[in-house]
Amino acid sequence: MAKRDYYEVLGVERGASDAELKKAYRRLAMKYHPDRNPGDKEAEDKFKEANEAYEVLSDAGKRTAYDQYGHAGVDPSMGGGAAGAGFGGANFSDIFGDVFSDFFGGARGNARGGASRGSDLRYTLELDLEEAVRGTTVTIRVPTLAECKVCHGTGAKKGTSPVTCTTCGGIGQVRMQQGFFSVQQTCPRCHGTGKMITDPCGNCHGQGRVEEQKTLSVKVPAGVDTGDRIRLSGEGEAGTQGGPAGDLYVVVSVREHPIFQRDGKHLYCDVPISFADAALGGELEVPTLDGRVKLKIPEGTQSGKLFRLRGKGVAPVRGGAPGDLMCRVAVETPVNLNKRQRELLEEFRNSLQSDSSHSPKASGWFEGMKRFFGDL
Ligand SMILES: [Zn+2]
Ligand SMILES: [Zn+2]
Repeated sequence: MAKRDYYEVLGVERGASDAELKKAYRRLAMKYHPDRNPGDKEAEDKFKEANEAYEVLSDAGKRTAYDQYGHAGVDPSMGGGAAGAGFGGANFSDIFGDVFSDFFGGARGNARGGASRGSDLRYTLELDLEEAVRGTTVTIRVPTLAECKVCHGTGAKKGTSPVTCTTCGGIGQVRMQQGFFSVQQTCPRCHGTGKMITDPCGNCHGQGRVEEQKTLSVKVPAGVDTGDRIRLSGEGEAGTQGGPAGDLYVVVSVREHPIFQRDGKHLYCDVPISFADAALGGELEVPTLDGRVKLKIPEGTQSGKLFRLRGKGVAPVRGGAPGDLMCRVAVETPVNLNKRQRELLEEFRNSLQSDSSHSPKASGWFEGMKRFFGDL
């Protein structure tokens, strides 16, 4: 059977534009689709014929070959083979997908039609350690999208109201029943709202929402730490078309403290002590978040020793026993000695000379060094 001319098949002029080709093909595909014409052999042949014609003519290279050599230029079975391998199922669905997505405007909306939830917002809240540990209430200002006061969120100019969408008849969805191509999609015109705005509100340009600074009071529970999130339900962006607002997530970031380092529920701090206090023992005043407390230092305390103050850390926000405060003592070498102090220290040094029992670390270290050199 001789093949019909592709242009004739699609019913277009030889100089037809791509848009005209697509339009013609779309019309034929709808008309002759096998699912619409079950058992109709003639319709099936026409459908295949249209597919083939469109497959060739929509491809610039193949179309040129076809214009020059006719069917022989594009169909390998005809002995020409100027342009590739005809078409198979994959190409077919590609064409179809292309045409249909074009038909539907390629709109991607939410399938619920119309109302959509506003976005969640994130706000980083910087707190001092004391605020984080004890809890606080802070006032924050967040930029957000709020419902337009002029049109009350409809997006239509004052005195007018949105009209029913003519494309979908107000349903918000358009449906094409095409067998396995059965598709229901958001209406490309109204984006699923079912309404069209013919006269947009000047304040929000038809969006129904405007940008706004919102002032909020945030209650921060005691014990929060960096990375903790406080959810303020419904304080995010306004929804569209009456949809619910999103949530606002306040994310805590605790500033560095000049004295305390925090590790979960425990606090750490460095406490400088004098060389004499370390040697003789004594009582130190150490800082806690609740004020100063006394800390007893035993005699012979070495630099770097940790003293644990139970329960002086942080009460965790999720409950449980409070953590501890760990005080790390740092023995301080005295500086700017006067003559008398210098004499005392020299005398003291001489008194140590012959007896290593006063220096537990040093004697151990010297022993190790001796062994090290002895082994060489
Ligand atoms: Zn408005
Ligand atoms: Zn519509």
